[in-house]
Amino acid sequence: MSEYSELKKIIQTNNSFVLTTHVNPDGDAIGSVMAVYHLLKNLNKEVRVINYSPTPYFLQFLDPEGVIEQYNSEIHPGVIISADVFMAIDFNTPSRLSRMSEDFNKRTGTRVCIDHHQNPQPVFDFLLVDTLAAATGHILYNFIENTKIVEIDYDIAVNLYAAIMTDTGSFRFERTTPEVHHIAARLIEKGVSPVNVYAQIYDQNSPGKLTLLGEILSSVKLFGENGEVGTVVVSADALKRHGIEEADTDGFVNFIMSIASVKIGLKFIEVTKGCKVSLRSKGDLQVNLLAAKYGGGGHKNASGIRLPSKHYYEVYDQLIEEAINMIKENEAK
Ligand code: 5GP
Ligand code: MN
Repeated sequence: MSEYSELKKIIQTNNSFVLTTHVNPDGDAIGSVMAVYHLLKNLNKEVRVINYSPTPYFLQFLDPEGVIEQYNSEIHPGVIISADVFMAIDFNTPSRLSRMSEDFNKRTGTRVCIDHHQNPQPVFDFLLVDTLAAATGHILYNFIENTKIVEIDYDIAVNLYAAIMTDTGSFRFERTTPEVHHIAARLIEKGVSPVNVYAQIYDQNSPGKLTLLGEILSSVKLFGENGEVGTVVVSADALKRHGIEEADTDGFVNFIMSIASVKIGLKFIEVTKGCKVSLRSKGDLQVNLLAAKYGGGGHKNASGIRLPSKHYYEVYDQLIEEAINMIKENEAK
């Protein structure tokens, strides 16, 4: 049986589902989770969406009825443990569930993973994974189209479009293939407005985000013989002064990548617990390998590391050095 028909069978033969995505969810995370929510609701299933982190304000339009619940350790463990099927969407390791992973580990029922990241952890009963997909929303589109499990209605379409648009950097990253554009076209035919989705997600900045960005951009640092590695640091103090949350800084690392000499960009951010590093690279530099050394992961050109008990300066020099070495080794090839 193909993976598509196997997942279709899992859906058709079960009744209660818990869906979740990773901490600090992005557009692909919320869009994919909400697309699966609507798919299952259209099949009259019992569905709960429980995420560890709140939905960032610029993605709340994807959940107008507020069906996403934020994890509460007094209410949710029972549901997470006992639902017929648990679906991990847009991530592949329980560590990205934070405390929810304790409940995930206690499950005996089916655990499904739908994702496009490298190296899924061997903890799932069923995987629908395509590491070449542009987004988890891309995988979901193909699943629905192949199995015809439901008709793609507007609610599913808008979520899949948001997922694919955000994970392709608005259709400019490497995996923006003709197929991805064809899918986007079909979703637009279902009534999605590219103008609205873009504006809802990207034109929602508070003045504080721009003033913080200004401050951050003026403190970009370059390293290596020719400025091949660029860094920015977002301190907890700066977030507080500008009234900004972590998710607002998601695109900041891309500004470093616009510098011609930069091959690897690193953004360090002080979060509530420890620090988070976002790594970006150009061409065939595999920053996911660098991230993995610190317990992180992601894609070849975009990865992340979350270090709950470290200050960013404990890894700052070392990561820059390793990034420079990676570039040198790559050039020597
Ligand atoms: P970002 O830097 O935008 O948060 O994340 C870039 C990519 O790396 C995303 O695909 C994300 O899923 C992945 N990523 C971010 N943080 C982590 C992490 O702590 N662990 C793992 N395994 N992947 C991460
Ligand atoms: Mn994704």
